[in-house]
Amino acid sequence: MINHIEFEEPEVTVIGAGLTGLTTAYWLKRKGISVHIVERDNRIGGQIQTQHNNHYTYETGPTTGAVSTPEVAELMMDLAQTSDNVCRLETAPDAAKRRLIWKGDRFRELPAGLLGAVTTPLFRFSDKLRILGEPWRKRGENADETIGALAARRLGQSFVDYAVDPFISGVYAGNPDTLVTRYALPKLYALERDYGSFVRGAIAKHKQPKSDRDRLATKKVFSAHGGLSHIPEAEANYIGMEHISLGVSEVRVSQEQGAWLTSYKDAEGRDCQLKSRWVVTTCGAYSLPDVLPFVDKERMQAIASLEYAPVMEVNVGMPDTFGGDYCAFGGLVPTKERQEILGILFPSACFEQRAPKGGALFSFFMGGIKHPEMLDKSDEEVKRIVTRCLHTMLKFPASAKPDFIHISRHRRAIPQYTATCGQRFEAVKSIQEQFSGLLIGGNLRDGIGMGHRITQATDIANHIFNTIKK
Ligand SMILES: Cc1cc2nc3c(=O)[nH]c(=O)nc-3n(C[C@H](O)[C@H](O)[C@H](O)COP(=O)(O)OP(=O)(O)OC[C@H]3O[C@@H](n4cnc5c(N)ncnc54)[C@H](O)[C@@H]3O)c2cc1C
Repeated sequence: MINHIEFEEPEVTVIGAGLTGLTTAYWLKRKGISVHIVERDNRIGGQIQTQHNNHYTYETGPTTGAVSTPEVAELMMDLAQTSDNVCRLETAPDAAKRRLIWKGDRFRELPAGLLGAVTTPLFRFSDKLRILGEPWRKRGENADETIGALAARRLGQSFVDYAVDPFISGVYAGNPDTLVTRYALPKLYALERDYGSFVRGAIAKHKQPKSDRDRLATKKVFSAHGGLSHIPEAEANYIGMEHISLGVSEVRVSQEQGAWLTSYKDAEGRDCQLKSRWVVTTCGAYSLPDVLPFVDKERMQAIASLEYAPVMEVNVGMPDTFGGDYCAFGGLVPTKERQEILGILFPSACFEQRAPKGGALFSFFMGGIKHPEMLDKSDEEVKRIVTRCLHTMLKFPASAKPDFIHISRHRRAIPQYTATCGQRFEAVKSIQEQFSGLLIGGNLRDGIGMGHRITQATDIANHIFNTIKK
């Protein structure tokens, strides 16, 4: 029997209660548009999940975001208001800006200025000279050039090996030789395309007048006070849990007389249906063939073939730093250095109350597109690797023992924006054009970070609001 909606018919049905789905629904409700979310998991937040262990607070998914667009700052300001300050922005202090790169037997600081770039042991002398000549190097001609090829051409191979490769591991858990610049780092791509050089482009951009709204995008590293989960929690509280169905299965969308029908089994296994004017999907590309069965195979294949990098995140609480200097954003490990980890973040240097006084929290990352096999290691083996790295890389004395080690495995963590993006974006565009009222969101397009997710969700909510208003 179909359990014909125990809740009001929404104008919009959102599939997925991660950051994209919840932010879309939050802004829709703020604009007076009724919305219902269906979520497969028994909890909200998707990849965002903050955990607490004694006096430690750690993230098992994303650890930090960047205030990369005004939309991020605006959401956080609005959430502070609607949650009575329970959810509020926390930005990392300048002291935690340092980025470290592993080379040889220790972490070294990634240079932030010209003097540091000339004196650093990370890059070859010939490449330092090459970096100085970057403004005069000629434009590339291949629109689908990979990040690795672009950086090698403009900056030199040692810059690729010791800056670009670890950066790409840290952001994409990916490979700079397969990620295509115009999709994966569109702002960097635009600098060369529009200004002929990264340096000239960055200077020109810096000189451009900025509105007060532009200035909200401070680029600062952020979290929420007390952990990232406060963001989805505050959004869900505002939306109202009665408008979010958790633990659903067999979600299928179909059309009926100009309306969208979303059918699913609720947490008790009962058949349910939601009728709405709009449907917004925010789930991973791999879920879409089941969710949107009416889309032809060819276009769906262009979307569902998106590859995701697997990532293992291991949080380690240390009760004592033994005088070590861990005041940095974290350290990344270039592929060339052949270590078992991709990098280590230092969340307790960035945010308050992540570790007890005198102690520190570290988040180790392993796997990625280059080493998916790392996720198959047993917990005991992972703990051995992390403990070894604590001593050899972070230089903890042999006597130092962690308070806890927590392992989380994400088999489909980060979508890889490779050469297949063009076909996928085209497929999404033509499906949305053909099926009015259906919007395909999520990290299969428009960027992989939390800032991108918030920006996309805001755009989707504005689009629906503006269309309804007409
Ligand atoms: C280990 C890790 C580390 C990361 N680190 C960072 C970082 O430091 N900074 C940063 O900015 N970003 C980081 N990210 C990326 C960031 O987590 C994502 O950009 C963001 O959380 C994605 O939100 P989303 O809502 O688009 O997707 P998700 O969080 O994946 O949410 C999608 C939701 O859809 C649900 N769903 C799927 N299929 C269905 C279905 N058929 N029916 C109903 N519901 C369904 C899922 O259960 C899920 O809740 C990281 C990601 C991972 C995995």
